[in-house]
Amino acid sequence: MPRQKLNIIDEPQPLTRSVIKLQGNFDGPFFVGAEGGTQDYICGNCSQLLAARIWSGSIIYVVVECPKCHHFNDFAYTKPTNLPIQQIQLTTGTFFFASSSPVRLGHQIEGMSKSLMPSGMALSKIQVAKYLIDNGITQPLTRDVVLALIRKNNNSALDLDLSELDLRGIDLSNLDLSGVILKNSNLNAYTDGIKIIPSNLNNSLVSHADMQGVHLNAATIISANFTSANLRNSHITGADVRSANFFEADLTNADLSGANLEATNFTLCQMKNICLTQSRIVQSTMLANAVWGPQYKLGNKNKSIPRDTSEYAYRQLKIWHQNAGLYDLVGEFHFREWASRREIQLSILSVELKTKRIGAIFGCLSQIIPLYIAESLCGYGERWRRIVFWDAVIITLFAVSYFIWSPILNKSFVNALLYSGGSFTTLGFNLQNTIPSWARFAGLTEAFAGIFLNSLFLITFIRKWTR
Ligand SMILES: [Zn+2]
Repeated sequence: MPRQKLNIIDEPQPLTRSVIKLQGNFDGPFFVGAEGGTQDYICGNCSQLLAARIWSGSIIYVVVECPKCHHFNDFAYTKPTNLPIQQIQLTTGTFFFASSSPVRLGHQIEGMSKSLMPSGMALSKIQVAKYLIDNGITQPLTRDVVLALIRKNNNSALDLDLSELDLRGIDLSNLDLSGVILKNSNLNAYTDGIKIIPSNLNNSLVSHADMQGVHLNAATIISANFTSANLRNSHITGADVRSANFFEADLTNADLSGANLEATNFTLCQMKNICLTQSRIVQSTMLANAVWGPQYKLGNKNKSIPRDTSEYAYRQLKIWHQNAGLYDLVGEFHFREWASRREIQLSILSVELKTKRIGAIFGCLSQIIPLYIAESLCGYGERWRRIVFWDAVIITLFAVSYFIWSPILNKSFVNALLYSGGSFTTLGFNLQNTIPSWARFAGLTEAFAGIFLNSLFLITFIRKWTR
């Protein structure tokens, strides 16, 4: 079995890395592949076995202390053999193992790193600008310039302020950019004649970075790690974001339209008002426990249509949650899908109203009116409380009319209400002669409405709880 020596590093500062130590007399290995992997990992100093039979890239960014020579070994990033199905995140700190931990096929154990540098020591935006001018560096910046800035910033990207810089076409792959500030920076594709050079962030560690409003359109960001990064209002359209990790990141208001989200991890990611128009959402996209906000509403960045036109994206999300068995969210996205269809019809109607084509206008109305009725009556079969509300409205309205206009029923409102309720549920409905004939016909009408609404209620209620 191939054996790979790990890199020896200095003992990490407390709470800067995920460090594993062994406890008691147990002398390893720390990790053992549960289904027979292809790789052994050994101490870079004394060749002690630290991880046995695991797969390349199953453990990344984790530091282990050799139980024999007490040197610290770093599991640096290596490209996984297969796309990880499940990621297990370790926080920063020290973990003590008293026995080997099994590593299952498709799992990836990932450590976290934080630099601890006194605040105010990092290069500010002004200092970066001064450095660029002093050295005659023009934009867009290259990888070498960014590496020089990281070296100047105490060998860390933490709080290094690269805001509003032109980084188009830059290659930042396999870099640790944790904590970098990239507010409103431009990493859009770089057009050179007809050749388009996308910025490359593959495998970069960009955790805890402040990237508000960053432009990453058409960039390749495969397997980059954005854990806890701030990406509010960012522009990531048409980017290749496959296998990127947005664990606990903030993508509020971000624009990911047309992005490839295959195997992208959105666990605990803030997704409120995110734009996903024409994004590639497949079953390997990790959307469980994403935070959508109370309305489950997607954003729309198309300024020419100020309406919610994400019907296709809602349908993709509905299918995803259906397959994942997360049925309460299926209902939310089903509702949004239909509400969006109604919005699209309204957009079409506003166009037709300008052309003043009567036939087309009526065609639109015949689409919109049933949608409005379905939405207010039962929320497209997802809101059973709305039906209860309409039940109450109809019973009360009929009761009021009986009370006002019927000489028999106007003795007390309770009587009118009982007659109305009886007719509605068709339980006490009768045609006794003492009731005036108009009220008997009204009761018949009410019974029809009652049968319809009660059936609708049952279907909606059952669908909600037995999906
Ligand atoms: Zn050792």
